[in-house]
Amino acid sequence: MPAAAALSPDILAKYEPVIGLEVHVQLLTATKIFCGCANKFGSDPNTNICPVCIGLPGALPVLNEKAVEFATLASLAINCTVNPRSIFARKNYFYPDLPKGYQISQYDKPIAEHGWIEVPTANGSTKKIGITRLHMEEDAGKSIHDGFSDSAKRTYLDLNRCGTPLCEIVSEPDIRTPDEAFEYLTRLKEILLYTGVSDCNMEEGSLRCDANVSVRPRGQEKFGTKAEVKNVNSFKFIRAALEYEIERQIELIESGGRVAQESRLWNADEGRTYSMRSKEQAHDYRYFPEPDLPPLILSPEFLERRRAELPELPEARRARMISEYDLNEKDARTLTASREFADRFEAAARTAKNPRRVANILLSEIGGRLNALGLEQEHSPVSMAGIVLAADLLETGVISSKQLKGLLDIAFDKREDFPAVYEREKPQQITDTSAIEAMIDEVIAANPKQVEQYRAGKTTLAGFFVGQVMKASKGQANPALLNQLVTKKLEG
Ligand SMILES: [Zn+2]
Repeated sequence: MPAAAALSPDILAKYEPVIGLEVHVQLLTATKIFCGCANKFGSDPNTNICPVCIGLPGALPVLNEKAVEFATLASLAINCTVNPRSIFARKNYFYPDLPKGYQISQYDKPIAEHGWIEVPTANGSTKKIGITRLHMEEDAGKSIHDGFSDSAKRTYLDLNRCGTPLCEIVSEPDIRTPDEAFEYLTRLKEILLYTGVSDCNMEEGSLRCDANVSVRPRGQEKFGTKAEVKNVNSFKFIRAALEYEIERQIELIESGGRVAQESRLWNADEGRTYSMRSKEQAHDYRYFPEPDLPPLILSPEFLERRRAELPELPEARRARMISEYDLNEKDARTLTASREFADRFEAAARTAKNPRRVANILLSEIGGRLNALGLEQEHSPVSMAGIVLAADLLETGVISSKQLKGLLDIAFDKREDFPAVYEREKPQQITDTSAIEAMIDEVIAANPKQVEQYRAGKTTLAGFFVGQVMKASKGQANPALLNQLVTKKLEG
C-alpha cells in the first residue's frame, strides 16, 4: 500500500488503530419506504417518483410494513435487541438530491440496538464485534455530474432512489485492523444475504460502507481524532483505504502534526484518501421527531413471527454441515457461500445413498474441473441430480472412482450432464469373479512383502491390493466385488 512515506514496523507498532464501520443496506421491498413507488434499480431517471418521495408540500408518508419486517429480521440476525417502540426523526440538511430538505431517519430511538457478530482473528480464534444500533431511514436521490454534453456546467438529478428503504448498521469501535474490518463486512453481508432482506449488490449501491478510523498510542485509553472514509465501493478497497489512512495518521502524529476530524474520499487509482470537507457535527442536522409518523410499535406477536422466519445463519449452518458431511472448514465455506447454493446442495445430498459422497464429488471432482476452466458453479454442465447419480453409482460399486473421473471428463468436455454421459458411455465392467481372482493372484504373487505385513495385522494394506488390481484392470473391475475378493484372498 503506498503510504505517504514508508514507516518502520517499530513506529507502526507503537500505535493501535481504532475502527468503526457504518453500513447502509437497501432493503429488497417491492415499493419504497413511505410511498407506493417501485423500489427498483436501473429504471429511466425520474420515473419511479411521486409527490411523497419528492417531498411536495402536503404529501404525507405512510410506512411500508414490509420494510419494518426486513429491518426486524436483519436486527435479529445480527443479535440486536429489537425495541418494541422506536421513533422516526427528521434529519435536516440541504442537498440537491434531497428535495424535501430532510431525510426521514431514526435518531435517539432506533428500531434495534446492542448486537454483535463474530469474526475470525489473525491468531485463529474469533472475536465479537459489537453493533451499536440498526436504524431505518430513507435513501436520497442521485446527483449525476457527468455523461451529458453540458455536464461541465450542469448537474442532473435522478430522484428514483429517493425513499428507497435503508437500514444503517453502526458498529462499535471494536475493530483493530483492516483485516478485521474486511472480515466484519464479509460476515455481515453474508448474514444479510441469508436473511434475504437485501441483494447487497455493491456495484448498484445496495450496500455502502463508511469507515471511521483513528489511531492512539498503545496502552492509551482515550481515542484519537477520527477521520471518516466515505463511500468506498468494495471490501477490498475499504481494507486498502484503512491501511493507507492508518499510516497517514501515524505519520502525521509522528511528525508533530494533528489529525483533523474530517471526511475523506478514497481514490482507488492512486491508492490514497483525500480530504473532502470538515465533518458536520451531529447537532447540525437539527434532528426532531417526524410529526407525520406515529411512533413505530412492534407487538410481541410481530417479533415472534420474525423470529420464526429467521433462517439458519451461515455460521451455524457451517458448523452443522461440517459434522453432518464430514467437511473441513474451507469446504464448508465453499458449500455455504450462498444460501441458495447450500439449499440446492443439501436438498440433493439428502436424496443420495451417502450424502458425504455428494459433497466429495461436488467439491473435488466438479470444483476442480470448474476451477481449471475458470467457470462458476452455476455454469457447471453437471447438475446436482447428476452428482447424486454419480455418488450413488460410486457408493454401490457400480463404477470405480477412476471410471467416474473418465465420465466427468467427457461431461465437461462435451458440456453434457452426467446422466446422459453415463447412459451412453456406460463403462464396461469386469464382474466375472474368476477373472478378478486371477488378477488378484498375480498382484499377491508380485508383492510378497505386503502380503506378509497384511497377515501380520496391517489390514489397511487391503487398499493397496485393491488399488493394484484396479490398475491392472484399467479401472474396470467391479469395485464392490474386488474389495470382497481381495479380503477373501488375503485372509485365505
Ligand atoms: Zn413515491
